[in-house]
Amino acid sequence: MEFVNRFSTALPELCHQQQPTPLQDPELAIVSQDAAALLGFDKTFMAGPEALGLTAGKLLIEGMQPVSTVYAGHQFGGYSPQLGDGRALLLGELKTAQGDYWELQLKGSGLTPFSRQGDGKAVLRSTIREFLASEAMAALGIATTRALSLSVGSGLVQRERFEKEAMLVRMAPSHIRFGHFEYLYYQQQTQPLKRLIDFCLEHYFSDCLTHQNPVLAMLQQVVDSTALMIAKWQAEGFCHGVMNTDNMSILGLTIDYGPYGFLDDYNPSHICNHSDHYGRYAFNQQPGVGLWNIQRLAQALSDYVPSNQAEPLWMRYQQTINQHYQGLMLSKLGLTQWQDEDEALLGQWLSLLAEQKADYHQSMRALAAPLAQLPETFSVAWHTWLGRYSERCQQNERSQQHRIAAIKQHVPEYVLRNYLAQQVIEKAEQGDYAELHALHQAMSQPFTQQHGAQRFAAPPPDWGKCLEISCSS
Ligand code: AMP
Ligand code: MG
Repeated sequence: MEFVNRFSTALPELCHQQQPTPLQDPELAIVSQDAAALLGFDKTFMAGPEALGLTAGKLLIEGMQPVSTVYAGHQFGGYSPQLGDGRALLLGELKTAQGDYWELQLKGSGLTPFSRQGDGKAVLRSTIREFLASEAMAALGIATTRALSLSVGSGLVQRERFEKEAMLVRMAPSHIRFGHFEYLYYQQQTQPLKRLIDFCLEHYFSDCLTHQNPVLAMLQQVVDSTALMIAKWQAEGFCHGVMNTDNMSILGLTIDYGPYGFLDDYNPSHICNHSDHYGRYAFNQQPGVGLWNIQRLAQALSDYVPSNQAEPLWMRYQQTINQHYQGLMLSKLGLTQWQDEDEALLGQWLSLLAEQKADYHQSMRALAAPLAQLPETFSVAWHTWLGRYSERCQQNERSQQHRIAAIKQHVPEYVLRNYLAQQVIEKAEQGDYAELHALHQAMSQPFTQQHGAQRFAAPPPDWGKCLEISCSS
């Protein structure tokens, strides 16, 4: 197993050497074998003492040099000049047998110089939510940081009540955030900023190096990957909740799962973060916020990309996100080949769902039925829409059978709803991880009906729709 520390070697200005604070009496509650396989870690390794020590912050593997990193960021629109890994450590980068590099981070690893008023700890509740979301998003095909493992300790951590301490091992090719660039830019650390840019170009955007302006080419790739990520969020009904620029990945990965939520009823202005009083990060604001955040990154790169070169990218972002979103929604409707009229068909469908307060996922999945059997329930508008949809299906190149199969491949049977995570959390807090394993299993193959997983396909009970999730970790 070979560990290297390319980031901290190249950017010592951003790194603070820091040892983790281990969990007390750790227990490895769950492992994502899919994530482990990316690292070349097999089941035997993950069940062994080395993995137990590693995932609980008790043991470092040779070559690891843990650091916490400093970054800045625009939080809810205002600039915070100094943030950073307040409860996470970058342990090092694993070089796999295939020659890939994966950064491993320990989250919940104790105090760092960037902990501010926090305690550097993570609680079981928030760690379960991050573990499940990371793996569910990956299974939906949405770019995300991954979760290798979740460990639980016997220590208690004070939040609104005392909660169990836990740790997550998070992994990504890189955890570099827009906020890392902003930190160096606003600090006027010109040389380190240049080094950070060169580091990204060399390791993550090497195909940009031959471009006339490699930094512009890199920014364009960030535009494209962010637009794709957010188009998928919108199609899957995912609400991030804290789209601050310090929570935006340079690789277009979904990162920092806090008060996120998947839609239940289709409410386009749904706010999943209880602390987001003005709805800045409401579901339907996400595409616009993504662009605003990219513009903050462009500002930090403005010594390399003049504004007249950056500006055409804003239109590119909007076009890219629309194109992806249309394609994704077309697939969910079981249709091929976007036609101009589909804009209206889709718009009417979503308005209908909003008006009826219908469950987003179940309504989409209900279309996976023969046209004659589609629910002709409630309103006239619904009936009218189904008529239009049937007409549109006649022009579709697919047979009815194929249309139904296509919808089932694109509309998940299992969605990580807040209430499902909540039920699992309550059991896990009693030391019972069986439901956590079962929910993780269902979410890792969300499009396939699985034996014994019916309870995870149910829409939420009323109490489950109004769970309040805030930033508190
Ligand atoms: P987040 O909302 O999770 O992106 O966190 C915002 C900032 O607060 C980041 O700089 C975190 O590192 C820091 N933070 C959040 N929770 C804690 C904690 N329990 N201890 C220390 N720092 C924290
Ligand atoms: Mg964060």
